[in-house]
Amino acid sequence: MTAQPEVAALGPTRPHAMRLDGVHKYYEMGETRVHALRGISFEIAAGEFVAIMGASGSGKSTLMHILGCLDRPSTGRYIMDGLDVSSLDKRALAEVRNQKIGFVFQGFNLIPRTTALENVALPTLYSRMGKAERARRATDALAAVGLADRAHHYPSQMSGGQQQRVAIARALVNGPSILLADEPTGNLDSRTAVQIMEVLQHFNDRGLTIVMVTHEPDIANFARRIAVCRDGHIRKDDLVTLRTVAHDALATWPSIED
Ligand code: ADP
Ligand code: MG
Repeated sequence: MTAQPEVAALGPTRPHAMRLDGVHKYYEMGETRVHALRGISFEIAAGEFVAIMGASGSGKSTLMHILGCLDRPSTGRYIMDGLDVSSLDKRALAEVRNQKIGFVFQGFNLIPRTTALENVALPTLYSRMGKAERARRATDALAAVGLADRAHHYPSQMSGGQQQRVAIARALVNGPSILLADEPTGNLDSRTAVQIMEVLQHFNDRGLTIVMVTHEPDIANFARRIAVCRDGHIRKDDLVTLRTVAHDALATWPSIED
């Protein structure tokens, strides 16, 4: 294959999804200053699935907020998809966030008295898509998480696992390249948690970059890489050698009666 200088001049298309360079984060609270991140340098390549572990207060959520462009580093740089986002103002940061990142939380955060389909369609309201296109996107996203038949159900009519799948569909409806999940299985029983891991592995296998905070080693083992936060540093960062494949785990999962 011959080289293409025009393309090469722009660098590789997907060098790394996220790169932190000496990132510190301070929270000022009156007289006191909390040093939540203490010099994190860390790269996540496009297509990775990284689990972030660590004790409460170790800086996991702060790290996720910065990775998700919800907050900026106090010092240091954050490069996302080749773009230095650490110096962007709030408005520009929000734009990057809306285009590139989806979020999933422990508590699902669905809007009550609003159907699954309407919940999923919500982020498309801020896009330039027409009404038909928005409806089609939302329908497709729900189908992709296996909930096409629940489109008109309300959150209160769905199980926790179904609600989390709606939340994942909502996070992905605008086609982000990165999904950030802060304890997505924290409110779910173990079999349902594995079903959520099956959904995440499905999208990761299709190229979605995923960063997931979890307290549970069993859940972290569905990722391809595990990083451990401690006192605002990343203390351990290893590839998972024997990754659990959710689809296989579910096939042999004991039923509730056992
Ligand atoms: P984790 O998610 O691992 O539990 P956090 O990132 O939430 O850790 O917190 C790291 C440290 O920063 C803790 O000491 C916490 O109390 C502090 N912290 C987090 N958010 C804030 C905030 N908004 N204001 C002040 N301190 C904060
Ligand atoms: Mg946290």
